[in-house]
Amino acid sequence: MQRIGKLYFRYGTMGSAKTALLLTTAYNFEERGIAHLCFKPVTDTREAKNVIRSRIGIERECRWIYPDTDIFATLSRMNESGGMLPGWILVDEAQFLTAGQVDQLARVVDEYGCNVICYGLRTDFQTKLFEGSRRLFEIADSIEEVKSTCTCGRKTIVNARIDREGRIVTEGEQVEIGGNDRYMAVCRKCWTNRLL
Ligand SMILES: [Zn+2]
Repeated sequence: MQRIGKLYFRYGTMGSAKTALLLTTAYNFEERGIAHLCFKPVTDTREAKNVIRSRIGIERECRWIYPDTDIFATLSRMNESGGMLPGWILVDEAQFLTAGQVDQLARVVDEYGCNVICYGLRTDFQTKLFEGSRRLFEIADSIEEVKSTCTCGRKTIVNARIDREGRIVTEGEQVEIGGNDRYMAVCRKCWTNRLL
């Protein structure tokens, strides 16, 4: 019988432990002997190691996806050379995929019956959808929010970019790599109030 897979999108703001969730999932697969692969789009070329790393201090090796990587072609080659593809494919930072690469992942699901779980941000620091996230919202089989809480108690919605003084920045490039020092996940109300 042919495998039937699904394309999943699990989205949340920065700091909602999406990466930790991915790494925990990979760890559980490993423990139970379930074949899987981890991928991540390359955004920070200063990164010497191809790893997925969580703020809580765990990491795991992954395969990099470059802007011109054809994911379907890559996995097809893997399928031809080594038999069946793993049942599970985990993708971190899926917001940085191109729309075409999301379509390629969907094709992997439909033609090979793999389950593909994409973890990523919904929107950028200007509250606009990322390209990869937009396409995932459009075509994923299953969409699930990974929630986290603003200091005021509401759900975080916005990945605010902040400057050295902690003020919210609203102008700039969509992608600017940074951690806790550059970004702060806040609720919509706190974001609006801080802009006033
Ligand atoms: Zn708030």
